[in-house]
Amino acid sequence: MKKITVIGAGIVGIATAAYLRRDGHEVTVVDKLPPGEYTSSGNAGILSPGSCVPIAMPGILAKVPGYLGDPNGPLKVRWPYFPQALPWLFRFITSTNRKQIESTADALISLLSQTFDAHRPLAQHAGCSDMIRQTGYIVVYDTDQAYRNDALAWKLRRDRGVICEEVDAKGIARLMPALARNYERGVYLPEQGYVTNPERLTKTLARQFEADGGVILQREVLDIELGPQGPRALLTDAGRLEVETLVLCAGVHSGKFSAKLGDAVPLEAERGYHVTFSDPALALPMPVASAQNKLFVTPMEMGTRIAGQSEFAGIEAAPDYARADILVRHMKRMFPQVREVESTRWMGRRPSMPDSKPVIGAATKYANTYYAFGHGHIGLVGSAPTGRIIADLVAGRTPNIDIAPFRVDRF
Ligand SMILES: Cc1cc2nc3c(=O)[nH]c(=O)nc-3n(C[C@H](O)[C@H](O)[C@H](O)COP(=O)(O)OP(=O)(O)OC[C@H]3O[C@@H](n4cnc5c(N)ncnc54)[C@H](O)[C@@H]3O)c2cc1C
Repeated sequence: MKKITVIGAGIVGIATAAYLRRDGHEVTVVDKLPPGEYTSSGNAGILSPGSCVPIAMPGILAKVPGYLGDPNGPLKVRWPYFPQALPWLFRFITSTNRKQIESTADALISLLSQTFDAHRPLAQHAGCSDMIRQTGYIVVYDTDQAYRNDALAWKLRRDRGVICEEVDAKGIARLMPALARNYERGVYLPEQGYVTNPERLTKTLARQFEADGGVILQREVLDIELGPQGPRALLTDAGRLEVETLVLCAGVHSGKFSAKLGDAVPLEAERGYHVTFSDPALALPMPVASAQNKLFVTPMEMGTRIAGQSEFAGIEAAPDYARADILVRHMKRMFPQVREVESTRWMGRRPSMPDSKPVIGAATKYANTYYAFGHGHIGLVGSAPTGRIIADLVAGRTPNIDIAPFRVDRF
């Protein structure tokens, strides 16, 4: 059995630690925050094994001016940050050729189709299976034309076996009676699901990990000390911690550590926002997405949450809650009857790679180091499958999918 240190107690780090502990390793997780309190706390909660469509799709460049010019649009670039974001944005745009998006979709479906299969054993063991719902969700479009404009995305899903049932306005009303009658076309995806509280899920799995003998230390990792064989200690704000095997799951902060280990990666903070309506007077049977506005509305145990937006401003810039105001406007258009009691407004940093694929696998230089970061929009859904793969690699088992597309040195 190995002595393993995991940096990061977000959902990816905790799911990975849980799978490693199940194999009997001695596992310590190090995070400056309590488990699940960074990006993994405020997401939309969607568990979508069919999320195989890359964010960068053909034609996206032509849509950018429209997104940026629309006061209710889904995209914002803070111009002083633009020069820093440019290399990432360039790679993002150049990832949109047809061959590349087909191979990305293949890689993502192989990883994410295992979502429920990988999440359920962890949730069952931690006694929180009730948080995982497989209700399906519905994606709606204002017009039939808008739906047809997204034809390639739906083809990518259908070609990979994702069940996508077209519905008209009447079908939408039947599935989601509370939704305003603004939508001509929708797609119901019955196999998808959601988590009723992503932060509580992470915390519950973390508590179970500790009950199973795992250790969680609340410390900031300042640097990694390298020996001839690779990382040999973490230098933290509370002293030096020796490491034997290291797994890096530090979300958007992973890039500085992987660069230190000789694996520089294009990792960007794609900042998103949520507003949770704690007492919305709505009963939604499942989540609903507005494809054109790139947002999800999810029924959660804390109320109804609307989440979306992509803002490029760097990791540390202060939140701009005008982006959350946009979500509120969309919420009122979708659900005019919503009771406006807000409980949280939140900003989180998706750890996004320009080709929409996470980094999963071994470090290029050091045999004692593994990476699990860069999950962008799919960190909740991809966390447990990723954790299971890392546990396989550490144990010397062959993972049940081809992990070559997720290599750190693919750029
Ligand atoms: C608005 C929004 C909606 C989203 N909706 C969904 C969704 O519906 N479904 C989905 O699958 N995904 C969704 N996501 C994406 C998802 O939330 C992320 O991909 C996921 O949370 C990333 O998890 P992580 O564990 O990699 O990172 P994090 O949750 O960010 O965890 C990384 C951890 O590393 C720690 N850390 C970093 N640096 C250090 C250091 N130096 N020392 C110690 N600790 C350190 C941090 O404190 C943090 O706890 C959404 C994201 C946003 C912003």
